[in-house]
Amino acid sequence: TTYIPNPERYNTMAYNRCGNSGVLLPKISLGLWHNFGFYDSFENARNILKKAFDLGITHLDLANNYGPPYGSAEENFGRILKKDFANHRDELFIASKAGYDMWPGPYGNNGSKKYLVASLDQSLQRMGLDYVDVFYHHRPDAETPLEETMHALSLMVKQGKALYIGLSRYSPEETIKAQKILKDLGTPVLIHQSKYSMLERSVETELLPTLLDEKIGSIVFSPLAQGLLTDKYLKGIPENSRASKNNTYLTADEIPKTIDKIQQLNEIALQRGQKLSQMAVAWILTQPAITTVLVGASSPNQLAENVLALNNTDFSQEELQSINRILNS
Ligand code: NDP
Repeated sequence: TTYIPNPERYNTMAYNRCGNSGVLLPKISLGLWHNFGFYDSFENARNILKKAFDLGITHLDLANNYGPPYGSAEENFGRILKKDFANHRDELFIASKAGYDMWPGPYGNNGSKKYLVASLDQSLQRMGLDYVDVFYHHRPDAETPLEETMHALSLMVKQGKALYIGLSRYSPEETIKAQKILKDLGTPVLIHQSKYSMLERSVETELLPTLLDEKIGSIVFSPLAQGLLTDKYLKGIPENSRASKNNTYLTADEIPKTIDKIQQLNEIALQRGQKLSQMAVAWILTQPAITTVLVGASSPNQLAENVLALNNTDFSQEELQSINRILNS
């Protein structure tokens, strides 16, 4: 059956301008790091993407090595695009990245022009796209001259294989240097990607002010701390949750370390009439530097629940203070 998107999708989602650019991004974006690989359910992946689009989530975040196995999230995404979104390519803002290990040998990792150019070509082939909307260097590489990496990103834009450039995990200093090079090349950075949540606030001191100063957009990942900032671990570790699985970056021993805080935060969320996951997303949006919150979801319902965060993004001073007190305790 043909997928017919929700006609109300653009009336329900809110969009922010991304830095000093013409691009608007939804306040909540979807990442395909988990749940979209060959070992995951293809139908579930497809349903999450349809739900995202129905909710007005136009921005989808991928990378060369998402899966597992590496490349399989892009390949599945390409199949789903073809099946369900063939007429909607221009309504989507699609990201990919390279910078971590992708293929064996000296040319499949880090920040060389050799690696980045080949990797983007592979990503385009897997997704069946002529271009991505934004291409990121996934992490800084101190061994490669920054000029080489920035020239590679700029070249992609000039060749039309990427419309915009993104930087992921770059420090404030690295971001400023990179932006200077990229501006000289006529292809400024659109967006910066970093980790930010109630449990990981290091970007607040320097990075976010730098991005505001430089007028670079900001997208933040793992806003739910991979699921810790939800009510799912309050009573143990449910089956099939990320913490229950092997080979994920959320290990079960994180839970006892944070459970006290999670419980207290959960109380505040309930007083606000929200779920903890919704409060965690809304709280991030109180930062003026943030363009969009990059969530993950293992089901369409989780995603729908997270988007309801936008119904209540106002915090009283008292609420913010209570949250700070819990987080600093
Ligand atoms: P989140 O912190 O949003 O964690 C998502 C996970 O939390 C879900 O997969 C699900 O896990 C659980 N969850 C989500 N919503 C709910 C809910 N309402 N109730 C209960 N549990 C919920 O983000 P991710 O860590 O997944 O990162 C998001 C994206 O950020 C990635 O897909 C990727 O695109 C990007 N990213 C970028 C990085 C970079 O280096 N640039 C690094 C990491 C991520 P469960 O399986 O337990 O249900």
